[in-house]
Amino acid sequence: MRWIDELAECSEHPVELTRRYLTPEHAQAAELIMERMREAGMDTWLDAVGNVIGRFPGRRPEARRLILGSHLDTVRNAGKYDGALGVLLPIACLKALDERGERLEYPVDVIAFGDEEGLRFQATLIGSRAVAGNFDPELLTAVDGDGVRLREALREFGLDPEAVAEAEYHRDDVAGYVEVHIEQGPVLEAEDRPVGVVTSIAGATRMRVEVMGRAGHAGTVPMNLRYDALAAASEAVIAVERICSDIPGAVGTVGVLRTMPGAVNVIPGVVEFSVDVRAGSDGVRRRVLRRIGEAFAAIEERRGVLFDSVITHETRAAQCSPWLMHCLGRAIEAEGLDVRELPSGAGHDAMAMAHLTAVGMLFVRCKEGISHHPAESMTEADAEVAAQVLLRFLEEFDPGEWDSDDRAEVPPDDDPGMGDGA
Ligand SMILES: [Zn+2]
Repeated sequence: MRWIDELAECSEHPVELTRRYLTPEHAQAAELIMERMREAGMDTWLDAVGNVIGRFPGRRPEARRLILGSHLDTVRNAGKYDGALGVLLPIACLKALDERGERLEYPVDVIAFGDEEGLRFQATLIGSRAVAGNFDPELLTAVDGDGVRLREALREFGLDPEAVAEAEYHRDDVAGYVEVHIEQGPVLEAEDRPVGVVTSIAGATRMRVEVMGRAGHAGTVPMNLRYDALAAASEAVIAVERICSDIPGAVGTVGVLRTMPGAVNVIPGVVEFSVDVRAGSDGVRRRVLRRIGEAFAAIEERRGVLFDSVITHETRAAQCSPWLMHCLGRAIEAEGLDVRELPSGAGHDAMAMAHLTAVGMLFVRCKEGISHHPAESMTEADAEVAAQVLLRFLEEFDPGEWDSDDRAEVPPDDDPGMGDGA
């Protein structure tokens, strides 16, 4: 917890925590992490995209390595645990082993990914995509808010943009990837549990919907002759809420709604709104979308308005490996706790890493589910439980049990999705 406070000092603003990819504050944070890693008996370096890597040697150097980690970047005015916990907790566990003079059978790499949130270049998961071998070179032309291209930013950071491919791990060398992360939701707290095992990382569909009715004078057009686009959109918003409440495992949100012309005495002629649907299973998400489409068609029909829906973003769900879920569950039980499995509604580096290897995630309870906000908080006691669980997991983990079929089902060319900023 002290290390997390220390890391939060590496910020672009003195009062609010903001740490973007490839900034001087990122370099400062990387330096701090490398120091902690060295104190834990690890060799450290920066990879080709600015991820910090710490390598903890194993007794059998030829064994497949386990990768642990999370991200070092933050959103604007962030909380200090998102990402940081998943970088520092593994280092603390390995340090405990090192101080007892112990080594694991297998080597462990801890990676502090440089970019997950996508705040600087509007492209998320840059660090983990590069490690997973799923980095699109087109991304090098992405531009930040000041017109700086990713290519130039890498160079300014002392890296070679032509060498990005060198960050990639070879899949035969890797046994799996495990990420510890605050839940960023209220489920564990509501059930009074310190930790949980993630089953899948939700896939998402985002749509922009335009409803076309007919504008008219608020005083002269009688109610029975109106084609009110906002009244129709209101029914649609309620339909999204009802459908996602009816179908287990789905969540749906309308977060943006614009009314045109937007005058107090004019019947709204056009309304535009967003829909964000997420589910841990792609089948569930498709079912929700089908039902939403049917509901919109019924509203069109009844009200004589037109709906035009465009999908603006779509990512598949990433399933966590049943094998790693089982291993994490065993470690939780050994600590005398029940195993609670839960899906992740937010994106994580594990999504991109699923392209490379089997992935598992341990969620840690956070206060009131608040995240991406300075009020983000968790307790020292929960950090202790998470550390004991991870340490036990590491001690009992056997990379020899690795099964090449046990990968998340993400096709090679699939978009690894959005970071948890999304
Ligand atoms: Zn995160």
